[in-house]
Amino acid sequence: MHAIRRVIASDNSCLFNAVGYCCEKSLRESTRLRKVIVDAIRADPATFDEAFLGKAPTEYADWISKPNSWGGQVELFILAKALRVEIAAYDIQTERCDVYGQDADYEDRIMVIYDGLHYDSIVLNPSSIGADVEKDVSRVPASTPALASVAALVRSQHAAKKFTDTANFSLRCLVCQKGLTGQAEAVAHAKSTGHANFGEY
Ligand SMILES: [Zn+2]
Repeated sequence: MHAIRRVIASDNSCLFNAVGYCCEKSLRESTRLRKVIVDAIRADPATFDEAFLGKAPTEYADWISKPNSWGGQVELFILAKALRVEIAAYDIQTERCDVYGQDADYEDRIMVIYDGLHYDSIVLNPSSIGADVEKDVSRVPASTPALASVAALVRSQHAAKKFTDTANFSLRCLVCQKGLTGQAEAVAHAKSTGHANFGEY
């Protein structure tokens, strides 16, 4: 089987749609999965407190409910737990893999790939170009050791520089349209203005 990067639309819900595609083979799960996050935060205030979320839980829940808010590590952590699936997240820039939900005895593992701004799904397919989407295998057993084909895919994406260096990339605040450089400026802008939606440009 060959590891294939299945491209997910850049519509601010890529994390949710990448996970939704892997779990359900559906690209229409983002609203439901945002709700899963909100419900998890409300149900477990001891775990999902302000220190964990970076803002007050009610504020965070309101924010992540909005279709333009980007999911990240918090969402992968919560989705792994709520969907009872391991989520292996591969980072192209560092070639690192973080596994969420590991050691929780879940049956399956799904895989996503991150380019610094955007998440896509990783699936296995009998064709080296992933010709037939219907044949995508998007869940592998959780006990599977790191797959050589997936490691090779991540390495080739890194070699082809298919990632954004978030220290130096250009982005724009989608609230006030200010141009910003790098994640640090975006974080500082969000802190000083309360604006929390950014787009690449
Ligand atoms: Zn702004």
